[in-house]
Amino acid sequence: MTDPATLPSNSETPVLGALGVILPLGANTRSSPGVEGGLPSSASVVGTASTSGSGTLLTESPTPSRVYSPSQTSDWLQCPMLRQFKRPSTLSVLHEADPHVWEPRTVEWDPARLLGIAVQAGYNIHLKGGGDDIVEAHVAAVLGSSFVEQTRYTLEGLTKLALRGVAALIEKDLFDRHSILDLDVPLTHSRPDVVSRHESQGLGVTDLKVARQIDERYRVKRMSEYETDDQFWHYAWEVGEHWGEPVKWFRAVQVILTPKALVLQETVTVTPERLHFWLQGAQQHWADMQAEDEGTRPVVPRWPNCRGGKYGVCVFYDACHNFNHDPQKMLTYYDRVPK
Ligand code: SF4
Repeated sequence: MTDPATLPSNSETPVLGALGVILPLGANTRSSPGVEGGLPSSASVVGTASTSGSGTLLTESPTPSRVYSPSQTSDWLQCPMLRQFKRPSTLSVLHEADPHVWEPRTVEWDPARLLGIAVQAGYNIHLKGGGDDIVEAHVAAVLGSSFVEQTRYTLEGLTKLALRGVAALIEKDLFDRHSILDLDVPLTHSRPDVVSRHESQGLGVTDLKVARQIDERYRVKRMSEYETDDQFWHYAWEVGEHWGEPVKWFRAVQVILTPKALVLQETVTVTPERLHFWLQGAQQHWADMQAEDEGTRPVVPRWPNCRGGKYGVCVFYDACHNFNHDPQKMLTYYDRVPK
């Protein structure tokens, strides 16, 4: 379990609510999930412009009226321009508005996403008490529903691979001493895989990630990155709001399917201070995203990520750097697909 990070001190005394986020004085500390797209009332952060003894400056975060999903926020963090490509957009640089999104054209169908969905679906059936035969039937049905005929993968081979991942998860007995409270239930803004209460560690969130392969050299780095992954902190915040009590931990579970099925896990302690620290940043990001969507803030590139991002060269590199966002030229390498 990772240690809480050392936090900057704040010269003003914050009022910590039930969930550990700083509340306006007199605010109701009970959670109340907001209306679609709005902030739950108890999540309001009172920004403080103060300079601590250590010289750390905390500036006031604007309060956005919208909360964005972890996937949209993640896209935006990668690059605001990239988020515009991946959403039905009125972005003026594209000279059009329609309900389609841009996708890089792939030469060959990649089953990675479908495999992840199938492993998760099979494991969920197991957690709900389904036997092996029901798990197998479910995994096969999920894969069969979206399998694309090609020369590289067979449906039978993918089914075996997915079932191997489910078996490795079951063997880990990840929820021993837990009561499962929610399984793949959508919240207002996100959809964590499992919400559970450990008998001594308290309320927490587990999310599954599935990869066909991760080179051994990169596994430690990959797992350590989950500690500050925006998606997991969003889950910790929103689950806490939804259940009306602080989330104490979150856990990333990484399934690697080949060459042999393997399950890695990283559990992170959630403290009120760190959650507040995250929320300050998230609120600023959401306010910026909202301003971009409303046209009051320009959509700017995250230039260092064009070539040097976490995933290497950006998939929209040609769109930005060679086609200058010209939709007609972009159609050479990209498709418009329905959202
Ligand atoms: S190429 Fe650069 S500017 Fe364009 S979407 Fe990717 S990261 Fe953003």
